[in-house]
Amino acid sequence: MRDLLPTPPPLHQNEHAEIRELFRRFVVPSYGRFDLVFSHGAGSYVWDVSGRRYLDFGGGIAVCALGHAHPEITEALVEQSRRLVHVSNLYFHGPQGRLAERLVRGIGPGKMFFCNSGAEANEGLFKLARRFGHDEGRFEILTAVNSFHGRTLGGIAATGQDKVKKGFEPIIPGFRHVPFNDLEAVRQALSPATAAVLIEGIQGEGGITPATAEYLMGLRRLCDERRLLLLVDAVQCGHFRSGRFQSFQRILEGIPGAEGFLPDGLSMAKSLGGGFPMGAFWVRSEAYGVPLADLFGPGTHGTTFGGTPLGCAVALRILDVIEREGLERHVRDTGDWLKARLESLAGEFPTVVSGARGLGFMLGLELHPRERIPALAKDERPASSQMVSRLHEAGVLTIPSGSQIIRFLPALNLARPQAEEGLEILRTVLRGIA
Ligand SMILES: *Cc1c(COP(=O)(O)O)cnc(C)c1O
Repeated sequence: MRDLLPTPPPLHQNEHAEIRELFRRFVVPSYGRFDLVFSHGAGSYVWDVSGRRYLDFGGGIAVCALGHAHPEITEALVEQSRRLVHVSNLYFHGPQGRLAERLVRGIGPGKMFFCNSGAEANEGLFKLARRFGHDEGRFEILTAVNSFHGRTLGGIAATGQDKVKKGFEPIIPGFRHVPFNDLEAVRQALSPATAAVLIEGIQGEGGITPATAEYLMGLRRLCDERRLLLLVDAVQCGHFRSGRFQSFQRILEGIPGAEGFLPDGLSMAKSLGGGFPMGAFWVRSEAYGVPLADLFGPGTHGTTFGGTPLGCAVALRILDVIEREGLERHVRDTGDWLKARLESLAGEFPTVVSGARGLGFMLGLELHPRERIPALAKDERPASSQMVSRLHEAGVLTIPSGSQIIRFLPALNLARPQAEEGLEILRTVLRGIA
């Protein structure tokens, strides 16, 4: 009988090594990758090439809105690809118009432009600000320290972190950085050339820091006073991740006078296509008497692949599922629960964990500095990367953010039992370190 059992194939180990070798030889080494090679996924689980299963709390960095291999995404891809994949933006088609309507209804009066990534969506906002300020000689955009806005030349200029700019000088002029959640710093930094202020609703790469309600309201007032565009990078924090469609909607809930709050422009990407590469920006109908949503007239801006029938059909289907399954409420409730549990880990493992932060399914667990945790002190890598590696070994995917925070950006349909399973594993790993 024993002979009939399939021997665990050494092939799998070879596949891991083979694929790593292909990357080593043929892929530009611009990413610091973890030593995991994946083959397939289902829902919030993903399998490596040796057949080992992982619980995915990283969601492909906030991209896999409905998890892996969601049957309705597959269906939308198959159905739409049988009809029409691409026609170019020389023509009209149903899916782009219908998706634009759905997204605008989620934010406020305005229009959509479709593109392919977060950086490209932000580039659109930079051009919008320049176009808006052009006739008055204004072009400057203020952004936040520790922000992240993408890896294009404009994106690294806008990003408030030196590490993304280093070696790529000269940096595109027209961006300056001010401390986040500090209204006075923005006021002090304004110059006659300033045209816009750009912030993330919740800083993601910078370590899961939500904008405060006072900051958002204050920025809106300041922008109104000085005729500036208020731009929000919602690439990571948008699309229901906070437990509302947009994080500013969640942050401003119940704040007196915030009912009519709207930014002037907003970029999105990551979860929008659930893994199908899509970006977009929303622009407000009107600001300061300027018909903002029509500033980009024919010939002013474009992109070949933006808003294809295929991409838009997928994004529409994701919105259908989110609505039908009540995932907005789910993210909010489960996210609040998860955050409370993460906070309680600081009480349970005070020598390792210092706290939790974030909203909905955009959460961070704060660790003490590596030097202060004996079990991590010998390894040179920051506490966040070491923790993420240990969680890999235990079968959970999370994402480091800075040197002391690990991020949880799970699929919006992560079920409560899976969240509990992940927490248990996290607790076991923490127990091993404490
Ligand atoms: C990921 C991210 C971007 C860049 O998006 P890409 O699709 O990688 O170009 C921009 N802004 C924020 C806030 C992000 O999280």
